[in-house]
Amino acid sequence: LASAVPARELPSRRAAAMGGGLSPLFYRRPLELVRGEGAWLYARDGARYLDAYNNVAVLGHAHPAVTRAVGRQLAELNTHSRYLHGGIAGLAERILATMPPELDTCLFTTSGTEANELAWRLATAYTGGDAAVIAEHAYHGSSKWMADLSSNEWPPGYRPAHVGTFAAPREPAAEPRIDAGGLRPALVLADSQFTSEGILDASPGFLAGLVEGAHAAGALYLADEVQSGYGRSGPRLWRFALAGITPDLVTLGKPMGAGYPIGALVTRREIADVLAREYEYFSTFAATPAAAAAGHAVLDILELTELPAQAVRVGEHLRRGLRALAAESPILGAVRGTGLLAGVDVASREVARALLEGLVERGVLAGLTGPGGNVLKVRPPLVWETAHADEFLARLAETLTAR
Ligand code: PMP
Repeated sequence: LASAVPARELPSRRAAAMGGGLSPLFYRRPLELVRGEGAWLYARDGARYLDAYNNVAVLGHAHPAVTRAVGRQLAELNTHSRYLHGGIAGLAERILATMPPELDTCLFTTSGTEANELAWRLATAYTGGDAAVIAEHAYHGSSKWMADLSSNEWPPGYRPAHVGTFAAPREPAAEPRIDAGGLRPALVLADSQFTSEGILDASPGFLAGLVEGAHAAGALYLADEVQSGYGRSGPRLWRFALAGITPDLVTLGKPMGAGYPIGALVTRREIADVLAREYEYFSTFAATPAAAAAGHAVLDILELTELPAQAVRVGEHLRRGLRALAAESPILGAVRGTGLLAGVDVASREVARALLEGLVERGVLAGLTGPGGNVLKVRPPLVWETAHADEFLARLAETLTAR
């Protein structure tokens, strides 16, 4: 690229041109990645990293089925979604076929934020409520409305007047207590795996209690599957399905197009129809033919290669290994997660930070999450096999020993 910034000047020129503080980078020594393939990422300096973090690349990096499908579609036609297109309608049908039968309407968006925003708009129109109830330390998106519905992002002392909270399920036996106070909630929403809250394994009863609590308060229940969905929990596509609940609304994003932006809101027709009486919904880039091609390719490969079932197997292997390491380590605590997702409590934020940097030095990219920033987050592409998990565990063991 003639206009690309040379590697040596990249950190300072990025910060100068892109507002360093608002969009911080990962890791003490920021990485310049130039190539990805399967579970591996390659940096400019030739170093190879095991990807233990990126869920958008659900099929592994640069999966040829996605590249081919999107490339072919871009070469043929890419428009907005106000024309008839078999690929787009077909993707809606295909997603609905994976959902409870009550959920019969699929509206496309370009991001998880936009899907949650549309859910909020539908819920207020349908219920007449004007408030929302979320988990403590939740994250649901980056727009103004969604930042208000993201308790994890609130600055100290900030609490929007229209938002109530419930305690996230930190113990397996936890029960939800929805306290709407004097609010009129339109929506109760939760990430089905409570990922930003620290990767918490809600019991089926907890999620069912949220649905009941929402309905008792006159609100709709939204299962935010942006991070937890698309096969990560296995053995099928949706984390909420493990609890046997039927949400009123489900939002999808991140892995949906394996990196080509596409999100969706799935709901019942009667809910969508309330907004349709007075408004249209249209978003320029939502489900273009190329985005739909990416969406089909993701579902094709997930089905063909049975990655959701593999996620269960490899995830259990990973957590077994993590528990064995934690049993020997004074700085590791509880291990949680469902499918190919693991959270490990670390003694403190500072120790967790050092552990993360130690992993990068040894060629492994992971992350941190949770209210205290001290939960090691392992959320790899679903193509991880047990050998990848073993590689991760070996590098983590080395990092712990080197402390
Ligand atoms: N909901 C959840 C649970 C998320 O994790 C995220 C993204 N981290 C979002 C919504 C927002 O999605 P996006 O970044 O695509 O707007």
